[in-house]
Amino acid sequence: MLDEYIVREQARAIDQWNASCASDDALKRQIRAQLSEGRLGSVNGVSKSQRGTGRPCVVCRRTIEPTEVEREVGGQGVVLHAHEACYKPWREESVARRAAAGPVLGRGGTRRASL
Ligand SMILES: [Zn+2]
Repeated sequence: MLDEYIVREQARAIDQWNASCASDDALKRQIRAQLSEGRLGSVNGVSKSQRGTGRPCVVCRRTIEPTEVEREVGGQGVVLHAHEACYKPWREESVARRAAAGPVLGRGGTRRASL
């Protein structure tokens, strides 16, 4: 039942996302600024969807209500929570940021000697 709830709510979040294209850019700009200032960590762990538990969303700072779906993202020693609708642009910006940063260390790329 919970799975059905999550699938339904994810579909609803995507619908809302598609319907609110005008605000996409504003949210993405905000996320980009937070990422570059280090106020927001990048998404680079496993994530799972669950029912909101009243914790604040790391992206928009609003409470994730029990009627909404929250995305729990595992990071380096921390677990972050975001709205399903906030997670999508957050992940996209995180991926874009990592891509822009060049090759990932330790994946056969160049390692900086100073490390
Ligand atoms: Zn949010």
